[in-house]
Amino acid sequence: MTEIAGLKERLIRPEIRGLQAYQVPDATGLIKLDAMENPYGWPDELKVEWFEVLRDLELNRYPDPGGRALQSALRESFGIPPEMALLLGNGSDELIQMLALTVTRPGRKVLSVDPGFVMYRMIALFAGMGYVGVPLRPDDFSLDLPAILEALALEEPALVYLAYPNNPTGNRFDADDMVRIIEASPGLVVIDEAYAPFTDSSFIPRLGRWPNLLVMRTVSKMGLAGLRLGYLVGAPEWLAEIDKTRLPYNINVLTQATAAFALRHKGVLDAQTRAIRAERDRLFGVLSGLDGVSPYASDANFILARLPRGRADKTFEGLKEKGVLVKNLSGAHPLLADCLRVTVGRREENDAFVAALRSLL
Ligand code: PMP
Repeated sequence: MTEIAGLKERLIRPEIRGLQAYQVPDATGLIKLDAMENPYGWPDELKVEWFEVLRDLELNRYPDPGGRALQSALRESFGIPPEMALLLGNGSDELIQMLALTVTRPGRKVLSVDPGFVMYRMIALFAGMGYVGVPLRPDDFSLDLPAILEALALEEPALVYLAYPNNPTGNRFDADDMVRIIEASPGLVVIDEAYAPFTDSSFIPRLGRWPNLLVMRTVSKMGLAGLRLGYLVGAPEWLAEIDKTRLPYNINVLTQATAAFALRHKGVLDAQTRAIRAERDRLFGVLSGLDGVSPYASDANFILARLPRGRADKTFEGLKEKGVLVKNLSGAHPLLADCLRVTVGRREENDAFVAALRSLL
């Protein structure tokens, strides 16, 4: 074993040794409100129809390498402008990785805002790029535009990520500020619309206005997290280059067929999304009325809430003991001190969470 320790020291890149692997806690037996999943399943009739689709799949064959049928279904379902290209990823996580692999070079940087989605930073490090995180404004998690413009000029990042709405804060940034950032960026700007189903504003209609704008989406939050499917939308000139870093057959046979099937029944998912939005607003109202809890208004399917000083860790553990798993963000970033993030679940799950929280406060 000491031999391995020595070899490890020599072989493993120091920035990898310094990282913690992405942590996914065990949720067995718990009400799972930690990962922005849609809490609803499919009605039985829909499952039966889906099994029919699965029956005819040929698992002995490789999948369609570009996922052409699925691309058409995505274009139709989400109003992708015909002049824009699409690139599919095994989750949007994989697209973030492809983007990094496409532009990485010694000294190249990725810029985003903090607190933000952790994979922008982690994947930058995996790809040997530097990461610049510009802090959001502490009072309302809005963009600090002067600080970002200064960082853009100083660091000249090859890639900029803005999540719209942002994770883990749930707010949508000011669109005019975002335009200023797109216009001031020397590299590509990726607007990450993972939470698009829960808000009414998107940059997809603005694609083509700026040469460096790309929009990234995922089907995870709309109820298909298990499929692992994300898509990048942008000018064909960019996507043809990024596509070169894609592993062959990255979207498997089951995912291609199931996602296309689900999009043919998008009405079911849309109804679930509407229910989640209504529950989000109800849960926000309930949390606002709890003494000592300060929730932040959200355009996503989760709510960030601040607890009294020093109470987050104990409350998180207490919730778990009472059967509810949320995300403890206290300690993840100075601006998130005392904060927990709860994913909007079914009505009864949200009620169980509130009851447990109330009893712990
Ligand atoms: N972007 C943001 C802002 C996210 O919060 C997440 C998931 N937590 C992702 C991307 C990754 O989504 P996917 O499941 O498509 O990899």
